[in-house]
Amino acid sequence: MGALKLPPKCLVAWELVCRGKEEGGLGVRDLATQNDALLLKILHRLHSIPLSRWATWVCLGERLLLDPRSSGLAGEHWAALRGLMPVYRALTRVSLGDGRMTAFWEDHWLPCGPMRCAFPALASHATCSEVSVWAVRNLGLDAVLVPRLSTSAARERLLLLPLVGRAGEGEGEADHRSLILCDQKGGRLASSAAYGLFRLGGEGAGCPECGASLETPDHLIFGCPFARAFWCSLRLSTSGASVRALHLFDASMAVGSASPHAFVQLCCWHL
Ligand SMILES: [Zn+2]
Repeated sequence: MGALKLPPKCLVAWELVCRGKEEGGLGVRDLATQNDALLLKILHRLHSIPLSRWATWVCLGERLLLDPRSSGLAGEHWAALRGLMPVYRALTRVSLGDGRMTAFWEDHWLPCGPMRCAFPALASHATCSEVSVWAVRNLGLDAVLVPRLSTSAARERLLLLPLVGRAGEGEGEADHRSLILCDQKGGRLASSAAYGLFRLGGEGAGCPECGASLETPDHLIFGCPFARAFWCSLRLSTSGASVRALHLFDASMAVGSASPHAFVQLCCWHL
């Protein structure tokens, strides 16, 4: 048998091969992306079954899971999991229990979204981004901020203080995470949906405006600080608003009863 003659170079770019068949590709799974999707599954298991042996081992003292300051979690595997935390946080919403497993600045645990986006001036004065809601409630908000605040940060601090007072009152109860866009039966994370999200977005899927990890429709229209400031200037609250329920978003406060739905559509187009 003669030697198999291989072409001198690839005839089709790997990127094209990995595209779905409906997009003109061969539908081959990109292993790096698939690996990330499966790691997200591990992250979700870690956060949703906090009493598992593995989670107990990873959870070091009062620190958050995978806190970069935890020296016992060095190595490539932990670094990969840690690197996916911003994506995992963007895909989850937290119903607060005692607040021990929830990052105060980074997780989405209030209707206004992550504190880092809702109170950007104040968040820029935080001494550490990886601090739990539980810790902030026990130490006080000022303990996790630098001593001197700018005028806008001081203003945001006054708005935030009452929210902190009410946070994490479920002492003894674990925080519960629900999944956005990739939930599966039994509260599990669907890795195929996560893979689709990675592929759909690819690099640069984050929000160029505020740096959020995923620029979902809800983020674009209601969640991004830019969008919230827009609705706020019209005196409309975005609390609880979602793109799926856009028809329920009431803009009559801004334009009266004439045609509020058409007005909302125009605003979305503008955003
Ligand atoms: Zn944004």
